Amino acid sequence: MTKPGVVLGPEDAAVVAAARHFSFPPPRTTGADSCRKLAAQVDLGAAAVMGSWLDSMKASSPRHKLMAAPLAGAADAEHDDWMERHPSALERFDALAAAAKGKQVAVFLDYDGTLSPIVEDPDSAVMTDEMREAVRSVAARFPTAIVSGRCRDKVFGFVKLEELYYAGSHGMDIRGPTAADPNNPGKEARSVLCQPAAEFLPVIEEVYGALVGSVEAAIPGAKVENNKFCLSVHFRCVEEAEWGDLFDRVRAVLKDYPGLRLTQGRKVLEVRPMIKWDKGKALEFLLDALGYAERSDVFPIYIGDDRTDEDAFKVLRSRGQGAGILVSKFPKETTASFSLREPAEVRDFLRRLVDDDANAT
Ligand SMILES: [Mg+2]
Repeated sequence: MTKPGVVLGPEDAAVVAAARHFSFPPPRTTGADSCRKLAAQVDLGAAAVMGSWLDSMKASSPRHKLMAAPLAGAADAEHDDWMERHPSALERFDALAAAAKGKQVAVFLDYDGTLSPIVEDPDSAVMTDEMREAVRSVAARFPTAIVSGRCRDKVFGFVKLEELYYAGSHGMDIRGPTAADPNNPGKEARSVLCQPAAEFLPVIEEVYGALVGSVEAAIPGAKVENNKFCLSVHFRCVEEAEWGDLFDRVRAVLKDYPGLRLTQGRKVLEVRPMIKWDKGKALEFLLDALGYAERSDVFPIYIGDDRTDEDAFKVLRSRGQGAGILVSKFPKETTASFSLREPAEVRDFLRRLVDDDANAT
């Protein structure tokens, strides 16, 4: 039994607001594992917990990375070592294409920081026409999905391609193509495929209002985004001196809402239903929905820039299939096999995928 209202460390499954249990989907971890994990976190004092969160929030800020690890070319030893372990997917494209040869490729793309640059105002995170064209070309050849923490409608508003699968709210809201599948022109377009957190809609709406009133209204630069099945508290425009207050306010709101948890992404705190569902689960669901779950001749490619994408990278690792590609200019702990530096390189990689497939047929 965990203490009600205790805020734990910044890792996934970090906030336990109450000991309420949810039956769907069934938890993967054993009771003993969960207890060990939670017990270790509950032992942390309040200061240690706050310090841990603030360290983690700073680590997600490029300003700190620039100060801590200037990368003046390939001379940086840490960077070289990291690139050795996570080589550029563009530089190693031929090896990657050789591994995919003869297999069914499927493409999974995060949105923010992957297809669009991270910008000050999250509502302005538009993708370029060149990127849209690259994604459109990929989708004409391979099943393609966008997997984002954003609300599905919002990410569709940015991407504007009806032929894709969309998994919004960290995969808690999955929809099939609303246009005819270019790979199966005769097949009817599909609608909503999966909404595992539907029962949380009213409470998410309520917490959204509470966070707007308590955090957005009080902390200059803070922005609360309603992603339908989850919420984002963006602190990318908040002075660092205010981060502690912002975190305290978020914690104060959450303690009244059993069943919600707090995780952290890139310059954002995320409030999510406490169910075992993440981008990795969404990837598994989509592979299943595409009829690829039991096939060994499938090559899923997942590209993302954030720690929430690690769940999907882990799924590919455990399946021993495909390739996880992390978008990052900086060395970062990751399960991904390859790296790309920025969205422009993602665009170039997608173009090469298309060219390679065109040349092979
Ligand atoms: Mg991202």
